[in-house]
Amino acid sequence: MMTDIKTAYEEICATIAAQEKEISLVAVSKGRSADDIRSLLGLGHRCFGENRVQEAATKWQTLKAEYKDVELHLIGALQTNKAREAISLFDVIETLDRPRLAATLARLRDEGLALPRLFVQVNTGDEAQKSGIALDKAETFIAQCRNEYGLVIEGLMCLPPKDAPPQPHFAHLAALAYDNHIAHLSMGMSSDYTLALASGADVIRIGTALFAPSSASN
Ligand SMILES: *Cc1c(COP(=O)(O)O)cnc(C)c1O
Repeated sequence: MMTDIKTAYEEICATIAAQEKEISLVAVSKGRSADDIRSLLGLGHRCFGENRVQEAATKWQTLKAEYKDVELHLIGALQTNKAREAISLFDVIETLDRPRLAATLARLRDEGLALPRLFVQVNTGDEAQKSGIALDKAETFIAQCRNEYGLVIEGLMCLPPKDAPPQPHFAHLAALAYDNHIAHLSMGMSSDYTLALASGADVIRIGTALFAPSSASN
């Protein structure tokens, strides 16, 4: 298992190193064992993603105490009643996607709490079951986050529909980031990260291809 993770990790790192800009690899550790996570930590990797606050708290409170330079990304939907816990645990929240959550984060900041770095999640496929602000409302929402709530939006994130070619979604997200002067683009998973890199991603979120490489399709 360790060897598999090491080989997969080195392969992805080589792809990243061949890019013209700096790429952040978010190792998506949801559902993965502490042993697997420790394998990656042992290889020197420090950037991880989780999609549930509770699972992340259980797994990472100890690991973060041990590895102080870990950067933890929240990549799943955030309920407002978990926002306080999330901001104390995560270094980046990639899933800011509605005014009510923006208001909650602003209120916590006004209480004196430090906010993590914030990315806005965009539902580029307008899928009813998926979180993320609708593409046609994204620009207004970004402006609202900035002007009304005083939040710094550092990146955009998307999760294209499963059964569609991802490039149009990556292109929409990249255009939105460009138009709104947003530096970071989190897009690309195990099956499509090379396409995402070609479309301008500088944050890729990879689970399966790292932790269970034999079942990944990339
Ligand atoms: C699980 C997950 C990933 C990683 O997906 P893989 O296909 O396992 O690489 C990336 N982003 C989000 C939002 C996820 O929930």
